[in-house]
Amino acid sequence: MAEHESLEYGKADFVLLDNVSLEEFMANLKLRFEKGRIYSYIGEVVVSVNPYRAMNIYGRDTIEQYKGRELYERPPHLFAIADAAYKAMKRRNKDTCIVISGESGAGKTEASKYIMQYIAAITNPSQRAEVERVKNMLLKSNCVLEAFGNAKTNRNDNSSRFGKYMDINFDFKGDPIGGHISNYLLEKLVKGAPDAQLRALHIQRDPTAYTYIKVGGQIKSSINDSADFKAVTDAMKVIGFTAEEIQTVYKILATILHLGNLKFGSDGDVTLIENSKLVSVLGDLLSTKDENVEKALLYRTVATGRDVIDKQHTHQEASYGRDALAKAIYERLFCWIVGRINDIIEVKNYDARVHGKNTVIGVLDIYGFEIFQNNSFVVFVYSWKQIDYFNNQIIVDLVEQQHKGIFAVLDEACMNVGKVTDEMFLQALNGKLAKHAHYTSRKLSPTDKNLEFDRDFRIRHYAGDVVYSVVGFIDKNKDTLFQDFKRLLYNSSNPVLKAMWPEGKLSITEVTKRPLTAATLFKNSMISLVENLASKEPYYVRCIKPNDVKSPLLFEHERCKHQVEYLGLLENVRVRRAGFANRQTYPRFLQRYKMISEFTWPNHDLSSDKEAVKRLLQGCGFEHDVAYGKTKVFIRTPRTIFSLEEQRAEM
Ligand code: ATP
Ligand code: MG
Repeated sequence: MAEHESLEYGKADFVLLDNVSLEEFMANLKLRFEKGRIYSYIGEVVVSVNPYRAMNIYGRDTIEQYKGRELYERPPHLFAIADAAYKAMKRRNKDTCIVISGESGAGKTEASKYIMQYIAAITNPSQRAEVERVKNMLLKSNCVLEAFGNAKTNRNDNSSRFGKYMDINFDFKGDPIGGHISNYLLEKLVKGAPDAQLRALHIQRDPTAYTYIKVGGQIKSSINDSADFKAVTDAMKVIGFTAEEIQTVYKILATILHLGNLKFGSDGDVTLIENSKLVSVLGDLLSTKDENVEKALLYRTVATGRDVIDKQHTHQEASYGRDALAKAIYERLFCWIVGRINDIIEVKNYDARVHGKNTVIGVLDIYGFEIFQNNSFVVFVYSWKQIDYFNNQIIVDLVEQQHKGIFAVLDEACMNVGKVTDEMFLQALNGKLAKHAHYTSRKLSPTDKNLEFDRDFRIRHYAGDVVYSVVGFIDKNKDTLFQDFKRLLYNSSNPVLKAMWPEGKLSITEVTKRPLTAATLFKNSMISLVENLASKEPYYVRCIKPNDVKSPLLFEHERCKHQVEYLGLLENVRVRRAGFANRQTYPRFLQRYKMISEFTWPNHDLSSDKEAVKRLLQGCGFEHDVAYGKTKVFIRTPRTIFSLEEQRAEM
């Protein structure tokens, strides 16, 4: 008997549980974790529990064991799913994607890296330097993106603060020929440069000297900063960043740290920079005149009719502008890095007429879900949609719907800058969403204990209830950067920096278009992501975090149970057990469900099985939850299947 069939290690596939109950599921998950079996299946879905220790299961020999095998031949492993995706692509010419979900620290990014490594390892080790080059680029770019896109949080020392979707393109032989990365916004900073470099950047070694780092808290980290710094610099070199570009990257990081220390004061009506020495440091780093830096920090240019005047910031506006600048520079830097990597790794000169279809494997490592006591805008924007695009339609509508979705209300509020307060925004939400089953607020449910403050509202996410505080929503959504800063950066004599800020070219009288709000930008990128995923054959990895103390031994039952529930794993098992994936050929569908509709029982007289299935589903009111393919009906949510099953059972 193969190891993974032995009961000593529990059931390798949850579909084989004797009874599908939460208790049995949890008992099996725990047993497997304790026996060091961190991967299990639900059908073709991989369930992974973070081992928090080095596992000897990712080496060359293991790769060989999975290469070209079928899923059930070997113990559950990420490699098996990666191989399945690769096979689907190679044999059936399908674009595939691997969607990795789970909360912060559950192991998503690690999983995505093992998957990439596996795919890189099994592709043709031919002599062609090009294949090697692309593989190398894809792996190295990960290192760079993590350096800039990750941060230490309470939950994860190396937490991804951006969602990442990476496509690997293959030619008809199954060799990688290029790739593309999409990022979904981020937060924060890095550290770890050598002394000489720090001096050139006017940076002190002690990270506590920088306000922005202190605010983040927790400076000690288990990650080796100086080794990482070198690795990142090397990776940038390998990928093809020029020395000038790399230098600019570090200058920008230094700029951000210095900005954080800038203090404003006032003298009567005049706003001043208290530590004016920093202004010349900034001028130096940004390759621009000191007086321009100072002016951009203290004034904004406004057009009133035909006149253009310089309006002095108040103390508060100046601080707001400074922080907005720091964030904007960092975000722009990150997007620029992603763009540069894409320039370099993108497929070039591929002629499908000559080489056959170019297929894709996508790997989605989405930003971990963190539920805090009090959630604000950032958490809201990033977490409302845990890319479970099969399961979340109601929430998507709540948030996205035109005119009355939360984003629409928010954007409308932001059009009236200065006039609408957070409280008024909440009022508008209450007005539009009072009847929505997944929305409530303190005003609407005054006795609800979880809604402690007047400014709280709550959304019933797929992942559980989350309470948000409306404070700061309007401000953060606007997230406006004064045009003066854009002009300042565009006018830098550093060409790399200049290229990052093309819109600084516009003069004040030319700037008329209102920039898109953060929520709108995010929504747009999510829509394109979902469209992209929907066009591919999906494979899933569900990651679970066993405890909050990064222990390899502890399986915290309640924590795990919560994750199993919100990842919908039990429903997953039930769906699989019903022998039912989310797609069925029309005849098979009818065979199973024709008894629940008068139109199809015992036989239908419609023109085709497809028409009959349509009729049946219309009759049950599931029309909105299905799509009709050429030969198959596609069902979005498991709930619909349960309900069909229930109706069938009642017959
Ligand atoms: P976030 O959403 O915050 O980015 P994440 O789900 O991407 O979180 P990871 O960064 O992948 O989480 O994992 C967190 C930590 O857990 C890793 O730094 C590593 O220490 C450990 N870990 C995760 N997966 C494994 C694994 N397969 N083997 C060993 N350690 C692991
Ligand atoms: Mg991550």
